[in-house]
Amino acid sequence: MIRKVVFLSMHTSPLDRPGVGDAGGMNVYVDELAASLARRGIEVTVFTRRTDPSRARVIGTPAGYDVIHVEAGPMAPLPIPQLGDWVGEFARQVTEDVLDGGEGRRETDILHSHYWLSGWTGLFVKQVTGLPLANSFHTLGRVKDATRRPGQPSEPLYRIAAEREVITGSDCIIASTEHESLELIERYGADPSRVCVNPPGIDLNLFRPGDRREARKRLGLDDVPTVLFVGRIQALKGLDVAVAAFGMLRDRLPDARMMVVGGPSGPSGVEEELEIRQLAARLGLDGKLIWCGVQPHRRLPIYYRAADVLIVPSRSESFGLVAAEAQGVGLPVVAADVGGLRYVVEDGVSGFLVDGWDPPDYTKALLRVLDGSAYRRELIRGALAAGRRFGWEVATERLLELYAGITNGSR
Ligand code: UDP
Repeated sequence: MIRKVVFLSMHTSPLDRPGVGDAGGMNVYVDELAASLARRGIEVTVFTRRTDPSRARVIGTPAGYDVIHVEAGPMAPLPIPQLGDWVGEFARQVTEDVLDGGEGRRETDILHSHYWLSGWTGLFVKQVTGLPLANSFHTLGRVKDATRRPGQPSEPLYRIAAEREVITGSDCIIASTEHESLELIERYGADPSRVCVNPPGIDLNLFRPGDRREARKRLGLDDVPTVLFVGRIQALKGLDVAVAAFGMLRDRLPDARMMVVGGPSGPSGVEEELEIRQLAARLGLDGKLIWCGVQPHRRLPIYYRAADVLIVPSRSESFGLVAAEAQGVGLPVVAADVGGLRYVVEDGVSGFLVDGWDPPDYTKALLRVLDGSAYRRELIRGALAAGRRFGWEVATERLLELYAGITNGSR
């Protein structure tokens, strides 16, 4: 029986605000999964690097799990390439803490690391403690490289090398979808018997349908066709494609508006946002494109409810939480036909999957959702049904079975 789980999330904390910098779906996933395990009486400790001196070393969250901030390297956010230098020190301190146990604390049953950096850390901790290690990558370097926007730098070789080590050295790799599991096997030669699939959940109590007019009123918006983009602003997310597609949509629907929720992320996020603002100005979208900035996760349902369609033209996406959240609210999604989006969005049922990144193809799909016919109502129903597949209850039960299989050696 699983009683205590240690999560490793070296490069970002579940306490960080998602939607900007390095914080996104993984932070939401770690936070909600830890909370869901804690609700079942399982002790969860999340180890993350201390980047903010004002945060205490140990924080007990209201959700019932603990976060331990490990002092490894400067107490400030560091670019990912520099974090490699601190993996050893981070792993040393986690190992000490895990071995120490301490009075009244349960013994750890399993380590679950998130992202390649934490997986790498996990290999060290596993070696010394002998604990089983499960790793969720959330994104994979080789998959990102396969579809990156022309002109974007490729993923560094040390990342690919570390991913390979983690794949070989972990007891189990947890993929979000069958598709990710195939990527692990085909692009990295992972042993299929060590890869398992467990799609993330979303908070279905938060992401549930609501009144569109009321949501628009709360956001101070008038009643016009509304396209929504939610995500970190970086080349990977394809906001440039979304804005160009919206520009063409306005030829047909001059009243339409687009909201952008999220902030710059990664080394060229600020530059990316600036270029897209320039593109919007060139397309004459001033006043029609609303930059909403980063929004607290709990406020996102209002944005999903206020919109008519969510656009997700990501270059790659291992899952695509925003698409699942939108569907939970009953919002149809127009998404790139890649990675996890193929699984989250049911093409023609809960929205549309678009092949490639040509803006006119996205415009066409947006118009199909916005056309106001009976089909639109069907899409809303389809989105709701698709969103209901992703509750945390099911995801947590399945994960606990996986953990049990790993700890008793049957995986
Ligand atoms: N998000 C948020 N506020 C924002 C923008 C995004 O809370 O301003 C959240 C969003 O609700 C989702 C996550 O960030 O849960 C993004 O996850 P996704 O899987 O779509 O992308 P990732 O960031 O993992 O690449």
